[in-house]
Amino acid sequence: MEQILKELPKKAQEKHNENRKFFAKLKKRPPKNLDYVMQELHYEEFQRTDCLECANCCKTTGPLFTKADVERISKHFRLKPQKFIEQYLRIDDENDYVLQEVPCTFLGADNYCSIYDVRPKACREFPHTDRKKFQQISNLTLKNVAICPAAFNIVEKMKKAIGN
Ligand code: SF4
Ligand code: SF4
Repeated sequence: MEQILKELPKKAQEKHNENRKFFAKLKKRPPKNLDYVMQELHYEEFQRTDCLECANCCKTTGPLFTKADVERISKHFRLKPQKFIEQYLRIDDENDYVLQEVPCTFLGADNYCSIYDVRPKACREFPHTDRKKFQQISNLTLKNVAICPAAFNIVEKMKKAIGN
C-alpha cells in the first residue's frame, strides 16, 4: 500500500486531462444506469480495499464538519459544541468547519478512527463513489483520485464501463 500511495499523485496527474474530458462529457449526457454502475463499481472495489491499510484520506485531507457532526461529536466528548470547535476545528476559505491539522487528530497509529461511531458524515461517505448522480461531483472526484487509491481504480473502471 505504501508504494501505491507514493505513486498515486503522479498516476492521477497523468490521467487528469483524460478524466477531465470524460467527466465533462458525462455531465452533459449521463447514462440512465449511472447510479447502478457506480454502486457496482464501488462495491467491487471496496470488497478488495482495506481502508485500515491506507487511511490516506484521514492523513492528507480532512472532512468538513456539519452542524450535526459538531453536535454529535462534542456530545461524545461531553464538551460544549463551542469548546469542541475551539479545540479541534477552524473555518476554511469556504466558511466551513474543518480540522485544524492533518493527519486527523482522531486517527490512531494503527489507522483506526477513535471516533468511528460518531465520525463526520463526510468521512462516512468518502470517496463518494456510490452516491447518486455521481456526475455532479466530478470536480471533487478529480481531486480525490490523487488521494484515494480506491477512487482512482473506480474511475478507471468507470471509463471502461461507460466509455463515452
Ligand atoms: S477511502 Fe480511500 S483514501 Fe480513505 S482509507 Fe479507504 S482507500 Fe484509503
Ligand atoms: S474523523 Fe476519523 S474517519 Fe474522519 S478523518 Fe478523522 S480519523 Fe479519519
